[in-house]
Amino acid sequence: MRLTVESVSTVNREMGTRSVVKLRVEPFVRFTLNQGHTVNNRVWINFKELRARLKFEAVLRHYKVSINRKGNQHTGVCPLPNHEGSGTAPSFSANLERGIFQCFSCGAKGNVLEFAALMEGADVKDGDALRKVAVSLKERFFPNEPVSRKGPQAAAKSALPQAPAVITNPPLDFELKGLEANHPSLSDRGFTPETVSHFGLGFCSRGLLKGWLVIPLHDPEARLVGYAGAVVDDGGIAEENPRYRFPEKRERNGKVIEFRRDLLLYNAHRIEKPADAVIVTDDFPSVWWLHQHGFRNVVATMDDGCSGEQARLIVSLVAPGGRVWLLPQGGEAGGRFAP
Ligand SMILES: [Zn+2]
Repeated sequence: MRLTVESVSTVNREMGTRSVVKLRVEPFVRFTLNQGHTVNNRVWINFKELRARLKFEAVLRHYKVSINRKGNQHTGVCPLPNHEGSGTAPSFSANLERGIFQCFSCGAKGNVLEFAALMEGADVKDGDALRKVAVSLKERFFPNEPVSRKGPQAAAKSALPQAPAVITNPPLDFELKGLEANHPSLSDRGFTPETVSHFGLGFCSRGLLKGWLVIPLHDPEARLVGYAGAVVDDGGIAEENPRYRFPEKRERNGKVIEFRRDLLLYNAHRIEKPADAVIVTDDFPSVWWLHQHGFRNVVATMDDGCSGEQARLIVSLVAPGGRVWLLPQGGEAGGRFAP
């Protein structure tokens, strides 16, 4: 494999400076690192939850809109600063229950958050601008709840009281036994028994993952939280039959258990912290392959993107002044792969 350093850049984060080194693998795959995002300083906010909790009527009042309510519906003159058209026709309507609005004259429509963003003159397509508006709404309407900087798991704890309890990535209370470690799907691809055993891989011939290559997944505290299944025969991969499958949402004792890989980094628990350098890739075999070639500090995002929480985890692994090597796989994925 030929690795070429494409560029080196420095990012300043709350926890110190890290260099982000972009690697490229021949053939050259272009991807961009969005340095504009200071993920680590970013405030976590659950848009969906906030939208559900915000009372549209209260938000309208906040923007000095006089409410003309019939049932769940408010209608009136469009209050949006960018409204064009008649200033007196009641072209604006909002469903206060569902938290959505529409102006028949200027064509603006959206949800309560987008409404507030438009009132603030923000671009609703700009994620960061929308986030700022969301944070200020949260602070205004729910002042007693500090905005979490710890990430979605912490934020989930303050979720709606009436919502069914959702537990994200809980440790498993079982372990798959009898996996076939010397399966040709691994040895034929050149993985040594040492690598296979290091990562606990094996072919599963029973249960839900029967016929799949099984990959144990751990949280940063090294607890087993699930298994990914990998297709053994590459030929059968299609949109409806993807290369990997991950645990599905399930219900147990009245609680919803969900698995979210965007909150995990594959192999992160095996990295000795703080590391001078960590290689970040996007799929499992790259981690195994690099491990086998002496690169032990390798993690994978398990997807073609990198979430804010994953970026935070990456930064937490690397010593200040250390380096993060990004090594995405080819294809379109590379373009979206950047913390
Ligand atoms: Zn309008």
